[in-house]
Amino acid sequence: MAKPALLTVDDDREVLRAIERDLRRKYGSDYRVLRAGSGPEALEIVRELKIRNNSIALFLIDQRMPGMSGVDFLAQAIDLYPDAKRVLLTAYADTDAAIAAINEAGINHYLLKPWDPPEENLYPVLDELLEDWGAAFPPQFEGIRVLGNRWSPASHSIKDFLARNHVPYQWLDIETPASDSEVRSLIELLDEEDIRSLPIVILPNGVRLRQPSQADLAEHAGLRTRATEAFYDLAIVGGGPAGLAAAVYGASEGLRTVMIEREAPGGQAGMSSRIENYLGFPSGLTGADLARRAVVQARRFGVEIISAEATELRVDGPYRFLKLASGEELSCHALLVATGVQWRKLDAPGVERLTGAGIYYGAAMTEAMSTTGEDVYVVGGANSAGQAAMHFSRYAQRVVMLVRGSSLATSMSQYLINQLKATPNIQIEYNTSIVEAHGDNRLEAISIRCSTTNEVNKVPANSLFIMIGAAPNTDWLANIVERDERGFIYSGPHLTRDGKRPNGWKLDREPGLLETNVPGIFVVGDVRHGSVKRVASGVGEGSVAISFVHQYLSKVV
Ligand SMILES: Cc1cc2nc3c(=O)[nH]c(=O)nc-3n(C[C@H](O)[C@H](O)[C@H](O)COP(=O)(O)OP(=O)(O)OC[C@H]3O[C@@H](n4cnc5c(N)ncnc54)[C@H](O)[C@@H]3O)c2cc1C
Repeated sequence: MAKPALLTVDDDREVLRAIERDLRRKYGSDYRVLRAGSGPEALEIVRELKIRNNSIALFLIDQRMPGMSGVDFLAQAIDLYPDAKRVLLTAYADTDAAIAAINEAGINHYLLKPWDPPEENLYPVLDELLEDWGAAFPPQFEGIRVLGNRWSPASHSIKDFLARNHVPYQWLDIETPASDSEVRSLIELLDEEDIRSLPIVILPNGVRLRQPSQADLAEHAGLRTRATEAFYDLAIVGGGPAGLAAAVYGASEGLRTVMIEREAPGGQAGMSSRIENYLGFPSGLTGADLARRAVVQARRFGVEIISAEATELRVDGPYRFLKLASGEELSCHALLVATGVQWRKLDAPGVERLTGAGIYYGAAMTEAMSTTGEDVYVVGGANSAGQAAMHFSRYAQRVVMLVRGSSLATSMSQYLINQLKATPNIQIEYNTSIVEAHGDNRLEAISIRCSTTNEVNKVPANSLFIMIGAAPNTDWLANIVERDERGFIYSGPHLTRDGKRPNGWKLDREPGLLETNVPGIFVVGDVRHGSVKRVASGVGEGSVAISFVHQYLSKVV
């Protein structure tokens, strides 16, 4: 945590050096002592500290300076730091001006030059003021801050990316300057270009990223974006439960393992507000918690986790080459595809345009707090939609679930159905679907069709969360591994048809249980054709796959 600052300003260099020396001697271990030779120079420092969200405990200012007097400087500086203590340094001849300033600029004290010995004339006064300041002052947030608009898709994806990667950040909504003094002072300090380019991410060192890409954000938030080695025994693409389990087992059994994840470790499970059926957690656990624990475990065994997207695969003899979106390439002997699935898009007018501006795919946990006291609509009838409805019911005034079928019994676990029915602010509308989303810059209303009456109703809505099934992430593998008509990857027994091995298969054995049609390329979890789409089954497949990887490696290495 950055130390709070003591800022001293004087146009006389000798005096400035002397006061700085005395301040450092007594307060240097607890405070940062900064100095400036004029009021304008000091204001620059104050603005920079404010942008970085650093605190200032005390201004110790010469009154008589050319251009800008001490009192004039303070009048501007206290707008940004109203709680900082203010001490004016004056010559004997200026005592009257200093006394007048006590009211004008809220001066806490004035000191006469020279102040020797400081033990008698300086430190007792400052000790008291700093003690008062320290007692009243709340610690400042010192991590990444994101300034943007709640209804902007870019703001949503930045918040979502940081939250899911467990990077602490503070969200500042540009629309709340009236109620939030921090937002107000930031708006005043930033350039016009910054404000035009919202969302802006402000790093603790003051660097501002305007509308950063996910890769930029990953780089600046301290996530690893590049591989440290050119070659690995095992590369895993996808960091959901299946990929994480494979990473833990692979590295713990001595394989040099890299895991590439384009969004955040945890995958879909990381978005779940409460997983209640995972063995060993009788009262359930959040997906974020499960992901955090798994990442710690994987790192402990030495897995290298890279925040990047795999975009191409090339096979050359026993080597498999992966190209990342950055253009970087890495190679491995065994590759494990664990890329899971992503939300199926709802095809209705207005939905694509307003996605991120009131319409979200998945439970979008980062938006939950913003729905406090509002109506929330959730589309879908599977467990994910049920969990999201339960989660939002803690914040929203009312949660309306729009379910296409006439019951939840076949698509949702019974424990969740019971919870939904017992929650008074959740309403379930069966036989319904969204036919249009309305709004200029953000969602304002939705049109809902009832399939039994064919009636369409337009209702006001600010927040719509869509969870209507999922499609696999395999287009980038299309020409290499065999997939079914929906894009799920075939493995093991599914590849042998009419007793024949897959085309191009040259080994004198069948493809292993979780192996694709390319030897040494394995597939686990939701992306695998025929998989059971659950956390535990993904974890099981990821763990088991490592024994097949070992068998394969024993023949190629
Ligand atoms: C909201 C919600 C609630 C759920 N609740 C439960 C529950 O309570 N119990 C239960 O058992 N199951 C639950 N599920 C299902 C469960 O989460 C999934 O079955 C499980 O996450 C699948 O794991 P996976 O590792 O196969 O894939 P995923 O979790 O989908 O992870 C795949 C990962 O691969 C990454 N990726 C994809 N393509 C690339 C690429 N080209 N490069 C790099 N990375 C890539 C993705 O970003 C993603 O992180 C829930 C799902 C959701 C969405």
